Amino acid sequence: MTATRLIILGRQGSGKGTQCGRLVENLGLVHVSTGDILRTAVEEGTDLGRRARVLMDKGDLVSDELMIEIVGERLAKFDVLKNGFLLDGFPRTPAQAEALDIILSDLGVSLDRAINLDVPVDEVVKRMLARGRADDTEEAIRRRLELYESSTKPLLAWFKKRGLLAVVDGLGSEDKVFERVIAVL
Ligand code: AMP
Repeated sequence: MTATRLIILGRQGSGKGTQCGRLVENLGLVHVSTGDILRTAVEEGTDLGRRARVLMDKGDLVSDELMIEIVGERLAKFDVLKNGFLLDGFPRTPAQAEALDIILSDLGVSLDRAINLDVPVDEVVKRMLARGRADDTEEAIRRRLELYESSTKPLLAWFKKRGLLAVVDGLGSEDKVFERVIAVL
């Protein structure tokens, strides 16, 4: 059996985390979440963590160069090559999307699907304020949503052009949304 390789896109607070957990469990994929990688680095106080922390607290993006290096290294690891991956939080900019093309073609693999978990802005703001994560100040939330619209949303067209995009309605119960996700795979 060949490994499945997926990307999940969606505004922060779209329920991506929950759906990723389920997908990974059901399909045996490796969850590669750039947000998790960075948060771990911050907790461990590594050099990367120290550099990323200030930007993350403000809701700003970490540099493309650094993110591309992190993802390139992770996707080349044996467990990811063997089991496939669910890439979450990357790409976030057109430069990252272009770099991902190169990373994957260098590895000799291709994407199967890019899933956009679609939840309206009003709803994600409500959800993010309710979850109360340390980096979820109102200012940081607003900044992240702005960056999503300006930098990440154009990627939907990028994946659509390649015939990879599947838009999934992210409103409703976790079970219902998961059914919809599975249906597009
Ligand atoms: P997330 O958990 O995906 O919302 O990521 C949390 C924070 O990590 C973001 O607000 C960014 O500061 C940073 N981050 C995560 N992934 C990326 C990426 N691909 N490019 C730039 N910054 C990122």
